[in-house]
Amino acid sequence: METRQTFAGLSEWQVGLWYALIVVSTAVFAWGVVRLVHKYRRGRGTFPSDRLARRVSGTARIVLTHAWIKRRDGVAGLAHLLIFYGFVVLFIGTGILAFQDDFARPVLGWDFWHGPFYLGYSLFLDVFGAFLIVGLVILAVKRARKPPRLDYRRVDGVQSRYARWRYEVGDWVFVGALLFLGVTGFMLEALRIAATGPSFEKWAPIGWLAGQGLIGVGVDGATASTAHFVGWWVHGLVALTFVAAIPFTKAVHMMTAPASIATRDEMAGKRLVELPPSPKPEEVGYGVVTDLLPAHLLQLDACTKCGKCHDACPAAASGYPLSPRDLVLDLREESEGAMGIRAALGVEPLFPADASLVGNPIRPETVWSCMQCMACVEICPVGIEHVPIINQLRRRLVDRGEMDVQLQTILETIYESGNSFGEPKRKRGRWAKELEFEIKDARKEPVELLWFVGDFASLDPRNIRVSQALARILHHAGVDFGILYEGERNAGNDVRRAGEEGLFTDLAESNIEAISGCEFDRILTSDPHSFNTLKNEYPALGGTWNVLHHSQFLLELFESGALTPRRAIGRRVTYHDPCTLGRYNGVYDEPRRIIALTGCELVEMQRIRDDSFCCGAGGGRIWMSELKESDAPRPSEARVHEAIALDRVSTFVVCCPKDVTMYEDAVKTSGHEGEIEVREITELVLESLELDPAAVEPAGVETA
Ligand code: SF4
Ligand code: SF4
Repeated sequence: METRQTFAGLSEWQVGLWYALIVVSTAVFAWGVVRLVHKYRRGRGTFPSDRLARRVSGTARIVLTHAWIKRRDGVAGLAHLLIFYGFVVLFIGTGILAFQDDFARPVLGWDFWHGPFYLGYSLFLDVFGAFLIVGLVILAVKRARKPPRLDYRRVDGVQSRYARWRYEVGDWVFVGALLFLGVTGFMLEALRIAATGPSFEKWAPIGWLAGQGLIGVGVDGATASTAHFVGWWVHGLVALTFVAAIPFTKAVHMMTAPASIATRDEMAGKRLVELPPSPKPEEVGYGVVTDLLPAHLLQLDACTKCGKCHDACPAAASGYPLSPRDLVLDLREESEGAMGIRAALGVEPLFPADASLVGNPIRPETVWSCMQCMACVEICPVGIEHVPIINQLRRRLVDRGEMDVQLQTILETIYESGNSFGEPKRKRGRWAKELEFEIKDARKEPVELLWFVGDFASLDPRNIRVSQALARILHHAGVDFGILYEGERNAGNDVRRAGEEGLFTDLAESNIEAISGCEFDRILTSDPHSFNTLKNEYPALGGTWNVLHHSQFLLELFESGALTPRRAIGRRVTYHDPCTLGRYNGVYDEPRRIIALTGCELVEMQRIRDDSFCCGAGGGRIWMSELKESDAPRPSEARVHEAIALDRVSTFVVCCPKDVTMYEDAVKTSGHEGEIEVREITELVLESLELDPAAVEPAGVETA
């Protein structure tokens, strides 16, 4: 009969001891899980429970395909996939054996672990056991080569109150323990085969070959049997210790990572939200660790320290005292130190639960360094929401008045004047009066397209030229459009991301009231920041409309035939994806297609689309003083260097007013003035249409 005896060589009391140890290991594991749940429940509010089927199916897809883990590091993704499926199959194999021995045979009299089933089982487990080992070896080699993203040195220069060497030890113990279990599993198989030698065990090919190797070097049956007995106990004890340790070590991510993905907010960062009511309603945002949402506390424990967010962060790359990974790890230390295992055991916690989060070790400068660019959220394989977490930390600082003086001044300016330039309301639509045709006042007459212009495009002289170009194009295409003139205020996207929730609500309500008083079909904006908040955040306040970015609308005009290029411009250009247009809203193709339609040749930079590098202006950083602590180039300067390194590229194309400002400045400060020109995509379109700016007529009318 093709099978084997499960507890071969063990006496009855030894089998009893083994089952007792299983009970102890499982009990420790269960206690660890319960104390984790208890910790998360000390957070503010509850776990989300909406759209359960979608959450479960989405998580299953992400976990089973490793779609997030393999992004931008295919080797790590493949290695983790091998480990994952190796571990899962070995776990299921152990479960099948336990079911057979402890339930099917004694209770049901059903014995299925023999014959063809046994042979297939042996083959399957051998192959997946090998996958586990290969995956672990790949990750161990990658880790041993010390890539920068796995370097735990802090970028903020803080002498932390906890030691980071523990992270490296923890990582190696985790990888080492799994590798030990995988290798000793095969060794046990080899020793068993060497001791008993049934020919059908060829169905466990790796164990069989190893067993033949042992026989070949002279290991006799008795020696193999003794070694198997000792090895079985060592392997078993390490396995049970591993199971018991899961909730307390890096292995916890096997549970918390899927849970984090399942409970995340799919719109995290794109749509910032209010926190649930607190026992202290006067305290907004995240000030202490119990302010965190349960889902955010869970996310802290899901971090695998993979460093992908650290690698993607423009702040970390540019010498700012911020690494999203370090911030998550600091918050995890705070949460675990205040509400973790010590608290669960009744031992005095390392930190009081009411200790301020910002102070030691998280510096205020760290919180203010963030550009809210979403690169971290977008790349994190376990769904951690760094941007909303940082935003909530900012809200508390803003509420306390602990912020950059320059930012405070700008926020006051916006509050008083409705724009970040401090200009009187009536100047908002002045740019439109300089045109050779009239732009409708959407508050007074119906329009098909309501153009929400935004601060920079209304009031900054360089960006006014772009707005006027866009107006000429729309007029030429025969679009029925209008603006709000002095009825428009700053959209509030960056005000909200700077942490000023009250002012954001005030601005949004004012804009919603103004827009709601107009008759229109769709909203157009050339400002990706306004685009994001109008599209994603105003609906929660009652403003739900169809909002378009001008790159989307211009493409629509080309495709409908309302616009036809008259000449191919023939420039070699590169294009920068703005964070709020690309990562926030997935608009990547439209600008590129417009560039092609204008007859330009697009040469891509290294970091494009969802991997695009922030200009450094987002999250209100454009209003704050410099926090950089090294000589590294600013994010916008680094981007210009990247563009200059391309072959014969003459033009840096953007489609965001803030990008026009940031990159024109960066071309000068990076020492590349005269080498590359910054153009807003609208200007390329205008150039390709060959409109005479002084005599623009609606489409169908001869303009030459
Ligand atoms: S949002 Fe951008 S700047 Fe902020 S922590 Fe994430 S990657 Fe860094
Ligand atoms: S926060 Fe996410 S991306 Fe960053 S180190 Fe942790 S798991 Fe990796």
